Amino acid sequence: MISKSVFPRHSKADLAVASHGDGCFIVDKAGKRYLDASGGAAVSCLGHSDDSVRRAMIKQTETLAFAHTSFFTSEPAEALADLLIANAPKGVTRAYFVSSGSEAVEAALKLAKQYYVEIGQPERHRIISRRQSYHGNTLGALAAGGNVWRRTFFESMLAETSLIAPCYAYRDQQAGESEYDYGQRVANELETEILAVGADKVMAFLAEPVVGATAGALASVPGYFTRIREICDKYGVLLILDEVMCGMGRTGSFFACEQDHITPDIVTIAKGLGAGYQPIGAALCTDAIYDAIAAGSGFFQHGHTYLGHPVACAASLAVMHRILDDDLCARVRQQGDLLNDRLHARLGQHPFVGDIRGRGLFRGIELVHDRAAKTPFARERNIAGTIKKKALDLGLICYPMQGTINGKQGDHVLIAPPFIIADAEIDQLVDLLGTAIDLSIASSA
Ligand code: PMP
Repeated sequence: MISKSVFPRHSKADLAVASHGDGCFIVDKAGKRYLDASGGAAVSCLGHSDDSVRRAMIKQTETLAFAHTSFFTSEPAEALADLLIANAPKGVTRAYFVSSGSEAVEAALKLAKQYYVEIGQPERHRIISRRQSYHGNTLGALAAGGNVWRRTFFESMLAETSLIAPCYAYRDQQAGESEYDYGQRVANELETEILAVGADKVMAFLAEPVVGATAGALASVPGYFTRIREICDKYGVLLILDEVMCGMGRTGSFFACEQDHITPDIVTIAKGLGAGYQPIGAALCTDAIYDAIAAGSGFFQHGHTYLGHPVACAASLAVMHRILDDDLCARVRQQGDLLNDRLHARLGQHPFVGDIRGRGLFRGIELVHDRAAKTPFARERNIAGTIKKKALDLGLICYPMQGTINGKQGDHVLIAPPFIIADAEIDQLVDLLGTAIDLSIASSA
């Protein structure tokens, strides 16, 4: 059943063959049901069998499967752009469609660079981002991210970037320091780095409003992003927000940055945009960027064959209508509160759970060996890897990752279930997750 020809991501011996989707569940060939508590990697926000999206895709393939964007635009691409822009942060007015999160980040970086060339500041090239970040696996996006593990093999090929501290109150807020003061202190690292590099050389600051894969649903403290925006404005640095994981309702607002009360110059989206039904991403930008490019070269020097793919756009349009027309953001807030309550009830006093965090249906749990000292588990114990395996055995899909910052960060588990998750499924999720954590720590002792 499992062929030798597909390049394996992990050891194939461990992989079940996915057969079909059913609401919040994936069913394998042997008939085993897995509750998808992480939407894969925060992708499947409508679950695995949404009829309206399926129908939209079938209808689109019956009319037009593909038309290259150098010859045509298409109705679904136009309608999707309009819908996204109508619901985007103020000032964000243009949408550029690609096929993945990494491509969205690449497009954002090139938009930023071309913008500065067009307005006569070609020396601006440096990207500043944060140590706790992941922005994609293509070379530009990889260079812009702080995920040490993913960078290792490719370091010598990566453009030089600057990494500053993440906003990570659980780890770094000092005794006696208010949450607000802590946020200002770490935000001010951006100004220090801009001055160290030379303000005229810095192109953009890139950050996830709520950090996903590298930190387990880590949101910033109030005031942090307001200060970041001020610093970017002061030095003419573009603010690029990466909402590939946290956008499209995941945190309880359509764009995550709405809750931080800021607007970006460019924002990237992907995962929830296609909800797993089609691969699609986008970089959205302001008129200032679009107009500079339009008035200069007249075209954005970028492009992929599958830009604005009609079937992907049709699927995404149906996903967006479900989220917006059915007010799924309100549901995310409601079910997110329930999930948070249940996680605290089951794991809040757990001797090896240091922090439970996140927003909406984007939650993270940081595991520690010593709760008082916040000491991580030794890497060799591979707590994250063991949780992933035990959870799968129990019929639960969650997204555990090993801590990455200088041995200072604990293993964490990311939870990002479909927005349609029912109360009873939340109970089941927390029950299975608690068991997987207990079994993993016991078995790796
Ligand atoms: N940015 C963020 C914040 C992500 O979480 C990811 C994927 N985990 C990416 C970019 C890259 O997206 P993709 O895997 O679709 O290329």
